[in-house]
Order: sequence, then C-alpha cells, then structure tokens
Amino acid sequence: MIDQADRPDYALRPHTFNDFIGQKKLISNLKVYVEAAKERSDSLDHLLFYGPPGLGKTTLARIISREMGANIIVTTAPAMEKAGDLAAILTSLGKGDVIFIDEIHRLRAVVEETLYSAMEDFAIDIVIGQGPGAKTVRIPLQKFTLVGATTKTGMLSTPFFARFGIVNRLDYYLVEDLKEIIFRNADLIKLDISDDGAMELARRVRGTPRICNNLLRRLRDFSQVDGVSKLDRKFVDKTLDYLGIDKTGLDEMDRKYLTVLIKSFNGGPVGVETLAVSLGEESETLSDVYEPFLIQKGFIKRTSRGRVALKAAYKHMNLDSIFNEQEELF
Ligand code: ADP
Repeated sequence: MIDQADRPDYALRPHTFNDFIGQKKLISNLKVYVEAAKERSDSLDHLLFYGPPGLGKTTLARIISREMGANIIVTTAPAMEKAGDLAAILTSLGKGDVIFIDEIHRLRAVVEETLYSAMEDFAIDIVIGQGPGAKTVRIPLQKFTLVGATTKTGMLSTPFFARFGIVNRLDYYLVEDLKEIIFRNADLIKLDISDDGAMELARRVRGTPRICNNLLRRLRDFSQVDGVSKLDRKFVDKTLDYLGIDKTGLDEMDRKYLTVLIKSFNGGPVGVETLAVSLGEESETLSDVYEPFLIQKGFIKRTSRGRVALKAAYKHMNLDSIFNEQEELF
C-alpha cells in the first residue's frame, strides 16, 4: 500500500482554501465568489488563472470544485484535438461541475469555437453527417464552470478572454509564505527542518511552491542517506549548492542563459529563438519558465528588439568587467 505521505503530489497539495498559503487577496476574493454562488445555488462564473508554472493554478481549480461541492475534470488543451473531444467532456458534466483546462492558450481554433457557445449559452452545436445532408443539432449542457490556466494571456483571442468572468494573476510567493509552506510540508513528509534551514530554502525556490516541494523531497533523500536528523541552514545550503541552485535560486539553466546572453551576444538585444537554439532549449520554455523569474529579479528585460541583460545579471554572474567594457563602447 502506498503511504499517503509518499504520494508526491497528493500529499503536499492543499485541499481547501484554508490549507492554501499565500496569494491572500486572491484567496479572499475566491472565497466570496464561491460563497455567493453557493448561496444562489448557482454555478461559479468561468475563471482564468494566469502566471508562471508551479504557482498553484491547478491546485486552486481543485480547491474551488471541492469548496463548491462539485466534481472536476482536469485536462489540457493539447489533449483535445477535435471539437468532439471537448463535447464528450462537456456532456458528461453535472450541474455546477468544473472543467479545468491547462495551457488553454494552446486550444485549437475549432475546439475554442465550440467552447464559446458552451461557456455562454451552455449548449453546443454538433454537425451530423456530411455535405448537403449535414445538419446541426444543438445539445444542451448543464451549467458548468470552466477554469482555464495559462502562462500567457496575450495568446488568448479577445472574444475568448472576454468570456471569463473572473481573471486572476498568480504572482511569485513571498519568502514568508514559502517558509510557511515549507514547515507545513516538512511536517507532512516527516522532516525536521530548523527555522534558519526553512528560511534558506525559501529564499532559493524562485518564489514557486512546486520547486519548494521538489527540493524538500531532495533534501529528505540527502538527509536520509547522510543520517542527518535535523535540516539546519548549513545542511540546506550545502545540499542546494551541490544541486547547482545558487543563493538567488537560479539553477544551471538560468545561469547558462545569462552567460550565453552576456558572453555570446554581448548582453543583447537578441531574439528568444536565437537564444533557444544556442541553449538547446524550446523558446516557449525559455519565455514561460525561465524568463519570468529572471525579469522579476531584474536580471533581464524583454524589448521589441529582443532580450537584454541588465547590470544586476553581470554582477550576479561575476561579469561586471564585461559590463564596464560594454558601457565604454557605447
Ligand atoms: P500550476 O498549475 O500553477 O502549474 P500546481 O497547482 O500544479 O501549479 O502547483 C504545483 C505544486 O505546488 C502542487 O503540487 C502543490 O502541492 C504546490 N502548491 C501550489 N500552491 C501552493 C500553496 N499555496 N501552498 C502549498 N502548496 C502549494
């Protein structure tokens, strides 16, 4: 039997609004919307969550369905190739149920169009047959709630975006909130971490709960093998250094990104596609996963001509001398 505490995702995922740490304003708003919808015995308005990966979009969708006392179906946009794939899910939903679609900016046009009328009229039109004999049949749906998640709202069409009644951005978490998450989760996986150990970890997880959980599990592995019973700052620091995570939370890929941008492209501007080729990474991964944090830290900026390294990046990478040389050239 699998111990609940050993199920990587399930054990650490918050299940109610009260378990959810951080994003306080967002949570208090969501509580109001859920409460109000429940009082009216109505379904919740369609919601869109956007922001970098690992900040809790899927978790919130699950919490919302649970708090509404509804079922949830979790899927991703690329998994729905045809309008029929979406129709099969929508027709299976009961009143008030939730459909969560991750990476919603990647929906195919035909699927997105089917979703329009489903979201607005709670009905879908299905074409039966082909050629002159084809006819459209309207299928009514139960009043459901769509929760969409995306790393980029800019890629949603205006009419689609407008159909979400509630749009929320998830931001990187504050160090204090991450520390609280670390204590809660360390407890759940039976790990003893000191106050300064938790602080050290919180500073190095890129403001992201998912990274927090992953590193907590790695720390558990190392402490177990090394026979360490309490994770203090020294142990956390040593282990994270060993795993290639620096004091700001940058990993090897982040540092490679900055080095290539500074050394191979003179600090930019350079297009993300070119950078992606040099780094052997997908450009979408660079722009969705790596860059938001580098921007937030003031290491890079996006300009119309491409990515540019900022002074803080040169400093962080100990390449100040190159920055000064470039300043003199201009
Ligand atoms: P996203 O959908 O934004 O990529 P997820 O909802 O899958 O992110 O969250 C990633 C992991 O981080 C989850 O397994 C969950 O355990 C954890 N997590 C996210 N938000 C929180 C939070 N506020 N408190 C505690 N853990 C969280």
